[in-house]
Amino acid sequence: MPRADSSDLSGTYSLDAVAGAKLAALEAKALLRTPAETTRDGVHVTRGGRRLLSFACNDYLDLSRHPAVKQAAVDAIGKYGVGAGASRLVTGNHPLYAELESKLATLKGTEAACVFGSGYLANVGIISTLMGRNDAVFVDELAHNCILSGAKMSGAAVHLFRHNDTAHLGELLAAERAKHRHALIATDGVFSMDGDLAPLPALAALSDQFDAWLLADDAHGVGVVGGGRGSSFAFTPRPHVALQMGTLSKAVGGYGGYLCASHTVVDLMKSRAGSLVYSTGLPPAIVAAAIAALDIIATDPVTVAKPLAKARAFTTALGLGDATSAIVPVVLGDSKAALAAAALLETEGFLVAAIRPPTVPQGTARLRFTFSASHDDADINRLAAIVAERILKS
Ligand SMILES: *Cc1c(COP(=O)(O)O)cnc(C)c1O
Repeated sequence: MPRADSSDLSGTYSLDAVAGAKLAALEAKALLRTPAETTRDGVHVTRGGRRLLSFACNDYLDLSRHPAVKQAAVDAIGKYGVGAGASRLVTGNHPLYAELESKLATLKGTEAACVFGSGYLANVGIISTLMGRNDAVFVDELAHNCILSGAKMSGAAVHLFRHNDTAHLGELLAAERAKHRHALIATDGVFSMDGDLAPLPALAALSDQFDAWLLADDAHGVGVVGGGRGSSFAFTPRPHVALQMGTLSKAVGGYGGYLCASHTVVDLMKSRAGSLVYSTGLPPAIVAAAIAALDIIATDPVTVAKPLAKARAFTTALGLGDATSAIVPVVLGDSKAALAAAALLETEGFLVAAIRPPTVPQGTARLRFTFSASHDDADINRLAAIVAERILKS
């Protein structure tokens, strides 16, 4: 390759200098992140040559390696090859999509469903399609990053309400709703870093009162809460959540995202959501795998009940409040403390994620434990004992 002269490189030097300074600033605050090479085999992972028991994965039902799910993917690859080849609007809308979307709508009790490339792409597409400049989006302050990204992309005014604080949301709606054409309330159904549920009945009531559409992101709800049907099914009577989105990459064990809603809303997404229209369809094998996984979720209540029961065994052993999902946070505050605690657990053979800002608010760095149907009760007890004696007491 010909060498560029130094004037051509000056831009590159400043680029690396700026990136390097940003990295150094992160490192100084214990916020540098590097993906560690990890091979996963169900609840076990191998990292740095060591085999660890993982409490850090969102594959709550271990469906990513369920024989029927794997076989469905293998069969689809054999029949259709690997990639979809184009956007769903061009030639990427494999017939398996219709089957998956009908299963999702049935599971969620909606008229229709629409599959996206991922949960992130779903939220970005849904929110930016529905909302615009004269509108307002009211977002729980702890909701997932992609909800905020979608809200910002839409150009709507964004109002954050205090976590699960429906009184605060009510005040914001009373003050702001009338200034806007349309309004959306957006929240996680199960909060990804805290594991608590959104108060969907109260949010649905505010949604009616203020004519503000309600979106619940059920990435961590499906397959785990509400008998596997997700967060709105965890309440009786079931609150009306017009926009139920979620992902196929957690309890469903594969990849992809979805929206369950009315026919009209789903048709609009298929025509207008940029992240669907301008992005290649999912590989047929991953669609086939999701179909098989949803069949298991719909018909195997015993497996579906396990992650929550195992999370509860852990919270009981530690004297924490009862887990309400498969996610249990142990907040330690300081990023360095969270990293040190995760390192200690690793020496004991456990992989647990240390979660730091900006994923969680400043001063709330934590260990995040996630529970799988395949975890062994004795391992959970041993983990709880170490956390109690060597992390919480110190
Ligand atoms: C993981 C997650 C997403 C993103 O889903 P992907 O399919 O991984 O892109 C969206 N929302 C919440 C609450 C999540 O936890």
